[in-house]
Amino acid sequence: MNMMEANNLVAAGLRGEQRSREPMARHTSWRVGGAAERAYFPADLDDLCAFLRALPAGEPVHVTGLGSNLLVRDGGLRGTVVFTHWALRTIRMESPGKESPPLDAAGVVYAEAGVASPKVARFAALHDLAGAEFLAGIPGTVGGALAMNAGCYGGETWEIVAGVTTVDRGGALHQRARDDYETAYRHVQLKSEVGSRKSEVFPHPSSIIPRPSEEWFVAATFRLRSGPGAESRGKITELLKRRIATQPLGEPNAGSVFRNPPGDYAARLIEGCGLKGRVIGGAQISARHANFIVNLGRARAADIEALIELAERSVKERFGIALEREVRIVGDK
Ligand SMILES: Cc1cc2nc3c(=O)[nH]c(=O)nc-3n(C[C@H](O)[C@H](O)[C@H](O)COP(=O)(O)OP(=O)(O)OC[C@H]3O[C@@H](n4cnc5c(N)ncnc54)[C@H](O)[C@@H]3O)c2cc1C
Repeated sequence: MNMMEANNLVAAGLRGEQRSREPMARHTSWRVGGAAERAYFPADLDDLCAFLRALPAGEPVHVTGLGSNLLVRDGGLRGTVVFTHWALRTIRMESPGKESPPLDAAGVVYAEAGVASPKVARFAALHDLAGAEFLAGIPGTVGGALAMNAGCYGGETWEIVAGVTTVDRGGALHQRARDDYETAYRHVQLKSEVGSRKSEVFPHPSSIIPRPSEEWFVAATFRLRSGPGAESRGKITELLKRRIATQPLGEPNAGSVFRNPPGDYAARLIEGCGLKGRVIGGAQISARHANFIVNLGRARAADIEALIELAERSVKERFGIALEREVRIVGDK
């Protein structure tokens, strides 16, 4: 972005906060990563739309939630990173009639993209709605859960989505139905983009840097069934207890690094290669859960990426299985 383009942004009357050289280590759960050339924290949804309209056409945009599934390389990110979780935080019950829930749906929750997923789980339980409990175990935003089709303990985000609102690169909003998307295990793609160049990359995160879609989630409606809040709260407590018992939550990490291959577990395969506990630089394949990589305190993104590549090579050689990455790797080395 040149000086004139930057001045145009100032003149656009934006209300959000702009920063340059924003260290991404502050915004990722691994606590690593170089700086984003520019960062934008919108004031609200209107402001985000205005920002995208005013942004020069050639400027790369990366929309980020809580960075809990993101490895930003040490060389940082070119372009502008937009953060949703400061502003897009509305959560409410949707008024009846706005959506048309099927007979088994008791209520619809509307949540903006920056709302933390566990908050949706708790909000639903508070309103005696069941089916969103699994979101309590996913430490990201609604936007990230939609982008990843995040899930755990038998639940998956898109199973409860009724519809979404998206914003495109030109700042225009779109209402989209669940059926507009092709969804599968940790995979989400607009059906209209299936078969286009984008689809060559999105189903294969192993290709390292996914080509970003030029449309981002700004809100979703979740269709939930009726169920006693106390039961949902009990399930949430149980689920969190299991996580504490099995995951290395005391050290910075990004959850599961690889998808589980059909009928198997990435952790079992990595452990089978003798890699549990392996250290490179300041990063370690967790001694507790082999599909987690933890930052021991002074890791660089390059250490984590080297462990990812080591696990991929080893599992391929020993088991003939190509692991697919669940974490998204972005930026320059
Ligand atoms: C301890 C731990 C446990 C975890 N357990 C699970 C689990 O059980 N199941 C699971 O599925 N995941 C799990 N994760 C991974 C992660 O929390 C999820 O993938 C989460 O949904 C990511 O949300 P986020 O807001 O952090 O997204 P980010 O990491 O910020 O972004 C992830 C990707 O989504 C894109 N994105 C973010 N927001 C938007 C948006 N508004 N519109 C379009 N694209 C967007 C980003 O560009 C990026 O490509 C875990 C992570 C940790 C640290």
